[in-house]
Amino acid sequence: MLGRTHLAIGLATTATVITNPHALPQALITAGISSLLPDIDEEHSLIRRKIDIIPGLPLGFPLLLIADYFLWHYKYFSLLAAILFAVYIGFAYFTKHRGFTHSFAGFATFILILVLSDKMLLIPAIIGYGMHLVADLMTNAGIELLYPYERRFGFHLFNTGSIIDQSIGLIATFIFFAMLYHNFTGMRIPFKTFTRL
Ligand SMILES: [Zn+2]
Repeated sequence: MLGRTHLAIGLATTATVITNPHALPQALITAGISSLLPDIDEEHSLIRRKIDIIPGLPLGFPLLLIADYFLWHYKYFSLLAAILFAVYIGFAYFTKHRGFTHSFAGFATFILILVLSDKMLLIPAIIGYGMHLVADLMTNAGIELLYPYERRFGFHLFNTGSIIDQSIGLIATFIFFAMLYHNFTGMRIPFKTFTRL
């Protein structure tokens, strides 16, 4: 699935679940990053192009390890969280696309890192990452949910980059902005008008 579709789905779901306007900005940033994170295992993905800086060079790997060291040094990460982060990044960079980072093992590692460091980010992180896996499950390529078992699971509904993928992104973007409007203005969307039709 396209990176921007993942981002739109993660943001729309978070804006629907977390309705407190004060908690929403931090939640949206967390969910946005989490919704892109699983595709760090693919060098042409939206998140990898940002982290690697120079396309085609896996510069992001040493940069993330340096960031990991400083997060541990300044006590944001415990030693175990720092080790798990390094393991996650290692698997992401050096195993194939839609494998570890798209599996229960990768999801659990990611959640454990947050449980050990910043529980405040847990709910939007679970939403962002979880919705990425659900969305990729719908595609023809599927994902290796039970990694290291190599079988791919999926519902084979559409291709990544297809018109359906793009349409889902557009609908999710619309829902995201509608929910933002709803949350920040306190205005109730008149759902009854739909049910009356
Ligand atoms: Zn993916």
